[in-house]
Amino acid sequence: MSVFNFSAGPAVMPKPVIEQIQRDLPSLDNSGMSILEISHRSALFQNIIDEAVADLRDLLNIPANYHICFAQGGGTGQFAAVPLNLANNRRHIALLDSGTWAAKAGKEATRLGYQVTTLATTKDGKYRELPRLKQAIPADSFDYLHVTTNNTIEGTAYHTVPESEIPIVADMSSNFLGENYDITNFGLVFAGAQKNLGPAGVTVVIVREDLIQTAEAVPSIFDYQLAIDKGSMLNTPPTFAIYAAGLVLKWIKAEGGVTEMARRNQAKSDKLYDYLDESKLFNAPAFKPDRSYTNVVFSTNNDELDAVLVKEATAAGLMNLKGHRSVGGLRASLYNAMPMAGVDALIDFLYQFEQTHQEA
Ligand SMILES: *Cc1c(COP(=O)(O)O)cnc(C)c1O
Repeated sequence: MSVFNFSAGPAVMPKPVIEQIQRDLPSLDNSGMSILEISHRSALFQNIIDEAVADLRDLLNIPANYHICFAQGGGTGQFAAVPLNLANNRRHIALLDSGTWAAKAGKEATRLGYQVTTLATTKDGKYRELPRLKQAIPADSFDYLHVTTNNTIEGTAYHTVPESEIPIVADMSSNFLGENYDITNFGLVFAGAQKNLGPAGVTVVIVREDLIQTAEAVPSIFDYQLAIDKGSMLNTPPTFAIYAAGLVLKWIKAEGGVTEMARRNQAKSDKLYDYLDESKLFNAPAFKPDRSYTNVVFSTNNDELDAVLVKEATAAGLMNLKGHRSVGGLRASLYNAMPMAGVDALIDFLYQFEQTHQEA
């Protein structure tokens, strides 16, 4: 059955990658062994992880003074790991509270005993637009500024990086490699693979080496310096997830790189937003200049009708359109692997739905 999968994560992966995995699965590189069976210390796997790092460095023009690690524990793990490694001078973090994930990052740092100051928030407006800094941040005030480049649940994104004198830590989980950012604008970038890079189980961390200042009490598994020294293999890494992410990186390169991904994502989301804005039934609440290219949040403003839509869409092969449980409504995630054909099919469906379910 052919469907389009609009899941926010774990999410759609490129079809050629899924097919490659299927071909490789019984015997990786004619080794007679599956990627699921080989040691992370084998030359076969070392080659896979080395190529993934090199391809990522190439795709994002990552300079030599930034290290690339593959971590476990997801974005949520990084909410703890980042302060543990980067916030031990002042033990004080600044936050742009742009959505649910940003708030969660602040909560985790607080839980670990760090002071967190929210410099701007749009929570009162249900995060429909992005919080912006109203004044410059004093250089000696905080260890870093935490920014969520793309707010997966609310459907907003910083298309330009906030101006900051202090290092910016970017949670890029849901638009990593889907929108063009200059890595040198950030002190650290992290992204869980399961949104726009690959399967669940691996998280990319890109960190500028001079910022690492690990506290003695940090668990080894969260210690960036150890991860770097051990080539992301302090312990057994998620070998399959790294292999699959590596294939996605090669696919992105072959398709024209991050610039081309960003162009496609913008074209896909523009088309869908244009339709939604024209429609009488649907409403896309995010402030136009702040709208995400990868997560389009919308609704009929009627919970029951939204539920009917999800059901009918599923029957029509348009999967996982239900909004995040915390905000309800509908959401179409248009990550790199979602083709324009999926957006066209969705718009056709929404148009038909609108004809048959007229609501004021
Ligand atoms: C999904 C997501 C997370 C959490 O990721 P986990 O890997 O489930 O911990 C954090 N931040 C953002 C922006 C996300 O989209």
